[in-house]
Amino acid sequence: MIWDTSKLTQADKRHSWHPFTQMRDWCDPAHEPLVLVSGEGAMLRDSEGREYVDGNSSIWTNVHGHCHPAINAAIRGQLERVAHTSFLGFTNPPAIELAEQLVAVSPRGKDADASLTRVFFSDNGSTAIEVAIKMAVRFWQLTGEPRRQRFIAFSNAYHGDTMGASSLGGIPVFHGAFSPWQFPVEHVASLDGLEKIDARDVAAVVIEPLIQGAAGMRPWPRGMLAALRAWCDARGTLLVADEVMTGFGRTGTMFACEQEGVAPDFLAVAKGLTGGTLPLAATLTTERVFGAFLGTFEEQKTFFYGHSYTGNPLGCAAALASLRIFRQENVLENLQPKIARLASLMLDLKKSPHVREVRQSGFIAGIELARADGEPFDWRDQTGARVCLAARHHGLLTRPIRDTIVLMPPLCITDGQLDHAVRAIGQAIGETL
Ligand code: PMP
Repeated sequence: MIWDTSKLTQADKRHSWHPFTQMRDWCDPAHEPLVLVSGEGAMLRDSEGREYVDGNSSIWTNVHGHCHPAINAAIRGQLERVAHTSFLGFTNPPAIELAEQLVAVSPRGKDADASLTRVFFSDNGSTAIEVAIKMAVRFWQLTGEPRRQRFIAFSNAYHGDTMGASSLGGIPVFHGAFSPWQFPVEHVASLDGLEKIDARDVAAVVIEPLIQGAAGMRPWPRGMLAALRAWCDARGTLLVADEVMTGFGRTGTMFACEQEGVAPDFLAVAKGLTGGTLPLAATLTTERVFGAFLGTFEEQKTFFYGHSYTGNPLGCAAALASLRIFRQENVLENLQPKIARLASLMLDLKKSPHVREVRQSGFIAGIELARADGEPFDWRDQTGARVCLAARHHGLLTRPIRDTIVLMPPLCITDGQLDHAVRAIGQAIGETL
């Protein structure tokens, strides 16, 4: 297929509005947006026929590679039957089976009541968090503790951009402008910060387990998550684990929570749920939470929440295919040597005088750039973005978080492609700084 790149980009500049993007820069005549037209495995191709490693898994979503034949076949198969039917008042086979399988792969609780047994579907990471927030609030109202209204989140947290989810966010540049309209959330920097909190009116604590993503790929100290679970248990508070980024193998296990033997009261998943093919999210919770919402119609304990595309059969079929690939292709087992390879490649990068720190959790890496004297670059210089642009010319696509370069390719990436990606970052740093 021949693409008219210039016609496409001109039309884009006339009518599209891109997320997190200064559109004046985007629409500048000198800016040539990449038009991505196809992909295979860990590679993407643009409208000019150039190929790139998908270095951030298309914003942290892709798991098994682009155009995986089994996922494509599952989507096509479902498409032949029906694309969408309502989950409000009806049910459908892929959603039924997916809920069952998500429960089966989710972290185990210490007893049956504390295990994740219920699945509420929605559309994206933000809605998965909205569901958890609203369920938590309602849970306490329904169980006779309505004073438990406060939410605790962590400094620099990111849980999505809808108003509720962004209330939990702790990154001023993203969330600050909307603060008068957000519900109040207490942000703490660490476990120590929790000690001053009167937990009796806390509804839930929300965390990105093992590693904070949008904060700049910042792993928590080992043991932090288990200690947080213990803190919540001791005070009878609910724990929300936001595994929107970490879920589905990213940290080396199916879910990050497993690595510290933690089962949260709510588990939010999205991004990688469909292998990164279609928008679908899920909020898993326990029988204890679910049970609080049961009653007669007149009692009005119903959870009044939902979206038009809840339980979308196409998305659920894709997610089922993705879980099948995890089993059939031994994805997590095969990932372990790649995690080790990534770690050793990161050590090489660290030799650059402009790499202040490399951070890694499983198959997620952040490469923080700084001046040779260790001081941060002026944020207005957009150093991270310039390095990523240079990396593009060496066949790697990724986005920085300020001056931290993110490398988290699809789990299916080959050793050669991984080496190529890291080499591209090294060359880009060398050329730019
Ligand atoms: N939670 C976390 C931890 C995330 O990283 C993100 C997205 N980067 C979200 C929630 C929001 O997900 P979405 O963009 O699908 O709404």
